[in-house]
Amino acid sequence: MRVEDLDERSSKRALAELLMDDLTWLGLDWDEGPFWQSERTSSYQHALDQLSGLGLTYPCFCTRGQLHAAQAPHSSDGSFVYQGTCKHLSAQEIELRAQTRNPALRLCVPAPDSERDTISFDDLVYGKHAESLARECGDFLIRRSDGVFAYQLAVVVDDAAMGVTQVVRGRDLLGSTARQIYLQELLGISRPAYAHVPLLVAPDGRRLSKRDRDLDLGVLRERFGSPEPIIGKLAQVLGLIEDVEPVSAAELLGQFSWDCLREHRGDIVVGSDFLDRLD
Ligand SMILES: [Zn+2]
Repeated sequence: MRVEDLDERSSKRALAELLMDDLTWLGLDWDEGPFWQSERTSSYQHALDQLSGLGLTYPCFCTRGQLHAAQAPHSSDGSFVYQGTCKHLSAQEIELRAQTRNPALRLCVPAPDSERDTISFDDLVYGKHAESLARECGDFLIRRSDGVFAYQLAVVVDDAAMGVTQVVRGRDLLGSTARQIYLQELLGISRPAYAHVPLLVAPDGRRLSKRDRDLDLGVLRERFGSPEPIIGKLAQVLGLIEDVEPVSAAELLGQFSWDCLREHRGDIVVGSDFLDRLD
């Protein structure tokens, strides 16, 4: 169990403990931890030092506004391709700018069409995937200007430290994978298997989220009293079982298959009332 609480502005320990309580109630358990990323920053600094030692990092003084004004929009997820604005600042320029603004740190990606530019991997659900780092994201952030380490760097360091061999997460993170594989290669870390799973979305394409208050687990816990009806409905939506019936997470393990998920690939559309019909 890893709690990704690097950004102190949005992380509250009590909330994370509530989440772990919900997971335990659902029957999703873990064998080690919790590990708190906020307590592991020396590991991230060590990795960052390794990357800087390779001569692959540089300070970036761009403001959010400058980035938005200057960047070509990313094709798939709406983020921006960094154009390398700060890549060739002289030592004097860096010193001068650092007097008024703390820089972020960026990692150089290989030049477009160079040998290491394209990162390929075989996703357990989405299949073969290839991405040009130069074209899809450009030199990316590994530490923000406020000193917070980037998610990409922290998860790569942590996955390795915690012996993670298979990463299963929402398909909204598919676009992070190439950057993480690139970091693994630079840091000499072995690559885990990746499985990106479809998201549950509302009919208008919106992601179901905490904003849909009916789906707040606190509300559901009160309404159902036990997790089995909820797990059963989710399993049926995924095609793991044919008819809706109460089932525990542990009972489903035996019949789990990646094939069910592969059939969905796209998002799974449900109404925000999709759990109502269980009552
Ligand atoms: Zn910059």
